Amino acid sequence: MRKRLIAGNWKMFFTPPMARKFAEEIKEKFSSPDVDTVLCVPYLAIQSVMDAFAGSNIKVGAQNMHYMDEGAYTGEISGEMLAAMGVPYVIIGHSERRERFSETDTTVNLKLLKALQHGLTPIVCVGESQRQRKENRTAAVLRKQINFALDEVKAADMSKIVIAYEPIWAIGTGDVATTEQAEEACTLIRKQVAELKGDTAAQSVRILYGGSVGPDNAKELFAQPNIDGGLVGGASTKPSFEQVVHCG
Ligand code: PEP
Repeated sequence: MRKRLIAGNWKMFFTPPMARKFAEEIKEKFSSPDVDTVLCVPYLAIQSVMDAFAGSNIKVGAQNMHYMDEGAYTGEISGEMLAAMGVPYVIIGHSERRERFSETDTTVNLKLLKALQHGLTPIVCVGESQRQRKENRTAAVLRKQINFALDEVKAADMSKIVIAYEPIWAIGTGDVATTEQAEEACTLIRKQVAELKGDTAAQSVRILYGGSVGPDNAKELFAQPNIDGGLVGGASTKPSFEQVVHCG
């Protein structure tokens, strides 16, 4: 039985003091014994938010990492650094990084392998553009992204990985995928994992849906057999995120 995971992505919002204040306010409300709740916050806010969540079961994640442990990579943060801080989760390959910061399928794979090496749980994002969907290329795009991302990953490690299906056209747009579209894509992803790593691995990996999830649509989306929770951007910066965490 896969435990539901609800991950928030605060993107580039909240200064460290604002993040800490918000974290203190929502600490009790976003906590649930039935759900793994993670908030992926800006690097600079990681420590203050971790301090604020001390004693709760809400975890903190990063939104990116480099695939090298150290070196002349000005402005970057390594997985080793995150692990040393006690950060348990990291988002990898978010479409905003793929589109605006030259993230490729190859760097996604390198980052994923490095995250596993350091004991971090990677939340790996995949998803098609509006154009790819219109051209009926969604399945091919998802298969390719999954094949690259999971290269060299051991079947036994699939339970330590989270995959987020995030159709690019649904992120931050208010255009949420229909329940059928989301379940169809997540089913395809699980089948692809089964092809690559076997059935046991495919049943162990948690697959999330992300793209304009909020209090109004979370319950129906998360009730689907192959959707194990959500990756939530905008709505996770609001107190009403409580309703997403506790949607049932
Ligand atoms: C995201 O940032 O991963 C995301 C899904 O954003 P939003 O929920 O705002 O669409």
